[in-house]
Amino acid sequence: MIKIEKLHKSFGKNEVLKGISTTIKEGEVVAIIGPSGSGKSTFLRCINMLEEPTSGQIVVKEQEITGAKTNIMKVRENVGMVFQHFHLFPHMTVIENLTYAPMTVKKVSKAEAEKNAHELLKKVGLSEKANEYPNRLSGGQKQRVAIARALAMSPEVMLFDEPTSALDPEMVKEVLDVMKSLAHTGMTMAIVTHEMGFAKEVADRVLFLDEGSLVEEAHPQEFFTSPKSERARLFLQKVL
Ligand code: ADP
Ligand code: MG
Repeated sequence: MIKIEKLHKSFGKNEVLKGISTTIKEGEVVAIIGPSGSGKSTFLRCINMLEEPTSGQIVVKEQEITGAKTNIMKVRENVGMVFQHFHLFPHMTVIENLTYAPMTVKKVSKAEAEKNAHELLKKVGLSEKANEYPNRLSGGQKQRVAIARALAMSPEVMLFDEPTSALDPEMVKEVLDVMKSLAHTGMTMAIVTHEMGFAKEVADRVLFLDEGSLVEEAHPQEFFTSPKSERARLFLQKVL
């Protein structure tokens, strides 16, 4: 589904990604973990071209998105993204948040967009909030709306950048549960997370990033019990 080759990204003289290569298969759930500042967000943002790679190649569904002629908007239709701070449209109701992109970008009819939106709201357990504005929702509810909004575009891949880091502890589970059930539907997912329990339970593979390099790539069982690199060992000592 996603193929990444020798991905480099610099901000000025700061080389943030130092040649990352990996592939993510269809239906695979990949957890991206590593210390703060290691380049996790930048890596994720390159996959849907929120950041332009300095060099290297990214292919999503057989389309090279790093190519000069790439239609970035088309790429983003296929790659949904969920952020730490939700990024909902504050002046739109929940249902309007969910129908806006399908109607404007995909030219889906209002009736069809709303029908789909209601189904998605049911899936994330928020049917009764359809006509609410985001500022009337809890953090966990906002994040579930954000997930439903991303899904409304029927993406092939979902990217999550620390989706639970801004939440009060009692709201983390409701969001992780939605992500877990999404994983079980066979969605291809790449998730930057500090929730090690979730990574262990749900991910098919862990990518450990440190200082812009992919230091280790392993099955969670293996990574969490016997990490190969010293850097991963030190990191796990601090977070587990
Ligand atoms: P992580 O998500 O692992 O904490 P980031 O990808 O956010 O790491 O950041 C990695 C490095 O890139 C940091 O040193 C950060 O300051 C730098 N960085 C990220 N985004 C930008 C940007 N838009 N402009 C300049 N520097 C950036
Ligand atoms: Mg980050």
